[in-house]
Amino acid sequence: MLKGKTALITGSTSGIGLGIALVLARQGVNIVLNGFGDVDGPKAEVSAAGGPEVKVGYHGADMSKPTEIAAMMAYVTAEFGRCDILVNNAGIQYVAPVEDFPPERWDAIIAINLSSAFHTTRLAIPAMKAAGWGRIINLASVHGLVASAQKSAYVAAKHGLVGFTKTVALETATTGITVNAICPGWVLTPLVQKQVDARAVAEGVDGEEATRRLLAEKQPSLQFTTPEQLGELAVFLCSDAASNVRGQAWSLDGGWTAQ
Ligand code: NAD
Repeated sequence: MLKGKTALITGSTSGIGLGIALVLARQGVNIVLNGFGDVDGPKAEVSAAGGPEVKVGYHGADMSKPTEIAAMMAYVTAEFGRCDILVNNAGIQYVAPVEDFPPERWDAIIAINLSSAFHTTRLAIPAMKAAGWGRIINLASVHGLVASAQKSAYVAAKHGLVGFTKTVALETATTGITVNAICPGWVLTPLVQKQVDARAVAEGVDGEEATRRLLAEKQPSLQFTTPEQLGELAVFLCSDAASNVRGQAWSLDGGWTAQ
């Protein structure tokens, strides 16, 4: 069903973005990766998952820079014809009480976790409208729905992303474009590993105990959500069955927001 379509996934050299890229590639979707760090490894992994018919590209745009984002969108059009599926996933975290929060960290989180989705979306929509089909999936978080202390910028950005999702979903409601957010709870990626490590140091426990405490505090299932599960949810949101799912913030959080 999705074979031959093209997905741009921001922040997909690692973690959730890479997981979603792998699952979409297995569906025959051409993939454009983006993000920092090792590129050859993730590119090879996604190519292997997709097989010979799946084309895999990469653009290294810094998602805090609107001009680089515009260059990435132009690259997708030039190399792949169109962005059919846009997954706004790039994100960073910083943890500190608001009075100690460095202003430059605040600006970076708002730029990467929120504003980048505006910059990609506004440029992706015209071609999706012309094609009569498109899927925009924003990786928000449980923190798009509820708050945690010490995460003021992240929670503000993710709540903003959920609001942005609803607005664009309304603006496209009579078209073949759907816009939704996915709200994961804890997923064990480098972004969360840093928080586990910090907790182990702060509480003087080993990594296993720090992980147990992290889950027990918020996530009733006591299990991490996996990038693979998030990829499968993205495939569902891309399916015809989900063509009237619009403007939703869909939790996959082990019961976190049910409390
Ligand atoms: P991660 O650190 O494993 O991956 C982040 C990706 O974003 C990497 O590919 C990194 O290179 C890229 N990136 C960072 N800054 C960038 C920039 N300026 N420009 C371009 N790319 C950049 O993190 P993750 O846990 O996979 O997080 C992915 C998304 O999922 C984020 O938006 C995060 O907020 C969200 N999320 C994560 C969790 C979790 O528990 N891990 C839970 C809820 C939501």
